[in-house]
Amino acid sequence: MANVKTKARFDEAKGKWIINGQKVWTSLAHESDYIFVIARTDPDSVAHKGLGFFLMKMDQPGIDVRPIEQITGTSEFNEVFFDDAECEASDIVGKPGDGWKVAMGLLGFERGVSTLGQQMAFQNELNDVIAAAKANDAAKDPVIRQRIAKAHEGLKIMRYNSMRTLSHDASDGALHKEALMYKLYWATWHRDLGELAMDVLGMECDVLEEAPYELTRLQSMYLFVRSDTIYGGTNQIQRNIIAERGLGMPKEPKVTIKV
Ligand SMILES: Cc1cc2nc3c(=O)[nH]c(=O)nc-3n(C[C@H](O)[C@H](O)[C@H](O)COP(=O)(O)OP(=O)(O)OC[C@H]3O[C@@H](n4cnc5c(N)ncnc54)[C@H](O)[C@@H]3O)c2cc1C
Repeated sequence: MANVKTKARFDEAKGKWIINGQKVWTSLAHESDYIFVIARTDPDSVAHKGLGFFLMKMDQPGIDVRPIEQITGTSEFNEVFFDDAECEASDIVGKPGDGWKVAMGLLGFERGVSTLGQQMAFQNELNDVIAAAKANDAAKDPVIRQRIAKAHEGLKIMRYNSMRTLSHDASDGALHKEALMYKLYWATWHRDLGELAMDVLGMECDVLEEAPYELTRLQSMYLFVRSDTIYGGTNQIQRNIIAERGLGMPKEPKVTIKV
């Protein structure tokens, strides 16, 4: 993100920020009324300096949204193009140059408490897996039973860790250690649940039931969870965060590759 090339310049005559650039992988942009955009307010700046954080209206001629079809056949995410897109002067969050700081605060929220509600959806999916295992007798296999028990246990641990995270006083805006590990934990748990679901279904997992031959909930879940360990920061990046910020280990060395 620190390599962002999208630019923002303030147009004195219009009294607005003008944004030019492009962003790929924007989840639900095609359904959104507003978008957060990080753009370079200082054209001579590099890396995480000189960025601004803008809250922009989507419904305007300067913004073009192009959905990307995923392996699941659906299109939750998009490419978004900004071509002289306009942002109200009052809709910059913080000051020009503060963009990185604001983005880090937002990411802390995205990787932490904002995702707690998804545990309910996880429970529903696990219930579906258990129901499928009972229906096709996969539950009689001791290894499958053990993996289901482990998934159940993992979801409980996720819940208790969330409670622990919420019990902290968050008024200082800082991320506590319990929150640092949350993204890595749930993404890995969910990816494993997808694999368990397919092993429970056995050969049936390759079959589309009937016209219009749409994926079942579990098939779709299996394909989508591959992306859980990528978006919102990959598992490797989460491990770096835990090591550096949680455990106080030395920072990853910066490497410059000259081509
Ligand atoms: C389904 C989906 C939805 C998304 N939705 C959004 C969205 O709404 N908004 C948005 O802004 N973005 C979104 N993204 C983008 C997502 O945040 C990025 O794809 C993700 O953060 C990884 O960054 P990258 O693609 O640049 O990969 P890279 O950073 O290029 O990483 C490539 C590989 O290198 C590894 N790697 C990179 N750096 C290190 C390191 N320092 N140490 C060890 N390994 C490293 C990574 O773990 C990964 O395996 C979405 C992505 C997906 C797949």
